[in-house]
Amino acid sequence: MGTFCSVIKFENLQELKRLCHWGPIIALSVIAICSTMAMIDSVLWYWPLHTTGGSVNFIMLINWTVMILYNYFNAMFVGPGFVPLGWKPEHSQDSMYLQYCKVCQAYKAPRSHHCRKCNRCVMKMDHHCPWINNCCGYQNHASFTLFLLLAPLGCIHAAFIFVMTMYTQLYNRLSFGWNTVKIDMSAARRDPLPVIPFGLAAFAATLFALGLALGTTIAVGMLFFIQMKIILRNKTSIESWIEEKAKDRIQYYQLDEVFVFPYDMGSRWKNFKQVFTWSGVPEGDGLEWPIREGCHQYSLTIEQLKQKADKRVRSVRYKVIEDYSGACCPLNKGIKTFFTSPCTEEPRIRLRKGEFILATRGLRYWLYGDKILDDSFIEGVSRIRGWFPRNCVEKCPCDTETDQAPEGEKKTR
Ligand SMILES: [Zn+2]
Ligand SMILES: [Zn+2]
Repeated sequence: MGTFCSVIKFENLQELKRLCHWGPIIALSVIAICSTMAMIDSVLWYWPLHTTGGSVNFIMLINWTVMILYNYFNAMFVGPGFVPLGWKPEHSQDSMYLQYCKVCQAYKAPRSHHCRKCNRCVMKMDHHCPWINNCCGYQNHASFTLFLLLAPLGCIHAAFIFVMTMYTQLYNRLSFGWNTVKIDMSAARRDPLPVIPFGLAAFAATLFALGLALGTTIAVGMLFFIQMKIILRNKTSIESWIEEKAKDRIQYYQLDEVFVFPYDMGSRWKNFKQVFTWSGVPEGDGLEWPIREGCHQYSLTIEQLKQKADKRVRSVRYKVIEDYSGACCPLNKGIKTFFTSPCTEEPRIRLRKGEFILATRGLRYWLYGDKILDDSFIEGVSRIRGWFPRNCVEKCPCDTETDQAPEGEKKTR
C-alpha cells in the first residue's frame, strides 16, 4: 500500500483531471461498450468458452481491450512533452533564429508550438486532440498512432462477433412457411440451448454496439492513415501548413529561394524509426532534430520568422466604426454576419469605436486580426487577437502601401 501511494504522486492525480472532458468520456464509453458487448455475445451466444476456438476468441478480445487502453492512456498521460519553461538554445546567438513565447518565458524550440489549451509550448506539436484531451506531439506520437491502429482492428473483430451472433441467433429463430419467412423471437431451435436466451434487448444492444464498432473503424482508421503519412514524411500537420505558406510567400515575392523541409530524412524507414523505437521512447530529446543534408538546424524556424514578418507587412489596418460585443453569432450585425460566423474555436474580440486593428486574414463577412494596443504593437506586451465582423470596421485611409484586403482564409482550423 505504501509503495502504491508513493507511485501516485500529487501531480499524477492532477493529471487524472484530463479524464473529465467530453473526449475521453465518449472514447472510453465506446471502448467499454464494444468490448463488453463483444465478450458477452461471444461467451453467451456465439462462441462459448468450452470450445478451443471460443477460448482463443475470448483471449483475443481481452487482448485488444488491454492494448487499446494501454496505448490510449499512454497517449493521454505521457503527453507530447513540453519545452522546459525558460528554455534557451545552447548557443545564445542561435536565439535570433527562434521565436519567443511570452507565456512560457522561453524560446520556441524547433518544431515546437504553443498550445493554447495546454498553455505550454509543445514539442513537435501536431495537433491538440480532444479525444485524449492532450496534445499529440513528440513523446506520444507512437502510442497515439498505435491506438489509432489497434482501435479499428479491435472494432473489426468485435463487429465480426456482433454480426455472427445476430446472424446465428436470428437464423435459429427463422420459421420458413409458405411464401413467408417469420422471425420467432420466443424460442431458439438450436441445440444445446444457450442458458440465457438472446432476447430483443440483447439484439438491440448488439446492433447498437455494431454501429459504434463500424463507425469507429472508419473514423479512427482514417486518422491512422493521416498519422502514418505524417510519420513517414516526418512532417506534422502544422509543418505542412508552414511549408504551404512558404511556397506562397516565395511565389508572392517572386523570390529565387527554394524552401526545403529539413526534417524529412528522405527515407520512410528512417522517418519511421524516429517515432517508433523498441524502447518506446522516441529518438532524440525533442528539442534538437536530425536534419537532411544541405539544411540548417534552424531552416524551419527561420522560415517561420520570415512568414511572421511577412504577415505584418501584408496585414491591413482597420479602424473600428461600430462597437462589437465579442458575441459568437451577433444578432445586430446583419443576417449574413450571423450565419457565416467562422467555425473555429479561435476567440472573437470585443471592439470599441475608435480602436485600430491589424487584420491578417479574413472571410467575406469576418476578419481576423490583432488589436493595436497603444504603440506597442511590435512584439507588444500582450496580444488581443481574434475574429470580428467586417462591417464594424473600415479600412484606414492613411494606409497607402497596402490597399488590398487580406486574402481569404485558406484553412480553417
Ligand atoms: Zn509557450
Ligand atoms: Zn494542447
